[in-house]
Amino acid sequence: MNTQEYIDQGDKYFLHTYNRFPIVLERGEGVYLYDTDGKKYLDFGAGIAVFALGYGNKEYNEALNAQIAKLIHTSNLFYSPCAVEAAKEICTLSGMDRVFFTNSGTEAIEGAIKAARKYAYTRDGHADHEIIAMQHSFHGRSYGALSVTGNDHYREPFGRGVSNIKFAEYNDIDSVKALVTKDTCAVILETVQGEGGIYPAKEDFLKELRQLCDEKDILLILDEIQCGMGRTGYMFAFEKYGIRPDILTLAKALGCGIPVGAFLMTEKCAEKSLCPGDHGSTYGGNPLACAAVVEVLRQFKERDIAGHVKATAPYLKEKLGELKDKYSFIKDVRGEGFMQAIELDFPAGEIVTAAQKEGLILLTAGSNILRLVPPLIIGKEHIDAMTQILDKIFSCH
Ligand SMILES: *Cc1c(COP(=O)(O)O)cnc(C)c1O
Repeated sequence: MNTQEYIDQGDKYFLHTYNRFPIVLERGEGVYLYDTDGKKYLDFGAGIAVFALGYGNKEYNEALNAQIAKLIHTSNLFYSPCAVEAAKEICTLSGMDRVFFTNSGTEAIEGAIKAARKYAYTRDGHADHEIIAMQHSFHGRSYGALSVTGNDHYREPFGRGVSNIKFAEYNDIDSVKALVTKDTCAVILETVQGEGGIYPAKEDFLKELRQLCDEKDILLILDEIQCGMGRTGYMFAFEKYGIRPDILTLAKALGCGIPVGAFLMTEKCAEKSLCPGDHGSTYGGNPLACAAVVEVLRQFKERDIAGHVKATAPYLKEKLGELKDKYSFIKDVRGEGFMQAIELDFPAGEIVTAAQKEGLILLTAGSNILRLVPPLIIGKEHIDAMTQILDKIFSCH
């Protein structure tokens, strides 16, 4: 099939839940992607903040191949060496005590919600608890995750969803306090809001929230599915705030391409939470997925990926700042590390399309916001190449 035939056949057979770009991606190398016409793209999307270590990573591919040769799947009725290793590594790195591996981000959220409800159920002997989530949040597309997603547009057609969810204003502690009742069991938020437009939590807000949760025995759930795994220049975004969540969710870069997510919790939470029979997954954390996690964490440590992000992000910020000074239609640039937003006063989609023509892949977050979530291995030369393309496009706008 040629490029147009792939597009036509895809449009014929896929359920139409995505407005795909007319580009057929075939292979990747480092921070570049190639389409079926051989065109090269500098990738500032990373498969939606997934491929942190770059494409065609030799050691990663070898680790997966070795695991495929040994054992791809077992089920969770047995132990497997790499699942145990992955669990030990991710708990040690995050400072959490226990982990459950899932196949996706949304499933990690489902698990986190169930874990919080079970904790409160064990403590109080009833199941009428409430969860406070944030406006403009994004936690996934399955029912529970959708129910804590603060975007009416995503939720509206699907009815009421999970009950007893209230929405507070992000970065506004009083709006959270106003919703707390004796039945509040958890507060869930992204440490840096992603899909909602790249809004980092303010330091005071998160610290006061941690304190509020401690005082009332409310579980603090931090969703770091997008902002975790080194993206902010910290291995986990919460580290910057000097706090720790009770429950943490991860996915996206956790497997760097192999579908895997996780929810983790403290021992205090685990003691009163999910026990045998409460939760499960046929695939979740199977040997192949966990081999990916082990290799990803090994490379993160060996190559000090978070340190590289921290060291290089100021340069990205500086370059974005220069664009902002030059073009008055840029309303704001903001973000943490390699998770940055350029907010425009017009729809960002046209810039994304123009960038593709110039060989640059960008994402959006909301209608007017360009979202930059490159592979975490990019260097200054890639930042320069990206800014030059954007400068060229902006100058024609
Ligand atoms: C992507 C994302 C999810 C959902 O993950 P999926 O793997 O798409 O189910 C949840 N929370 C945040 C913050 C995300 O960015």
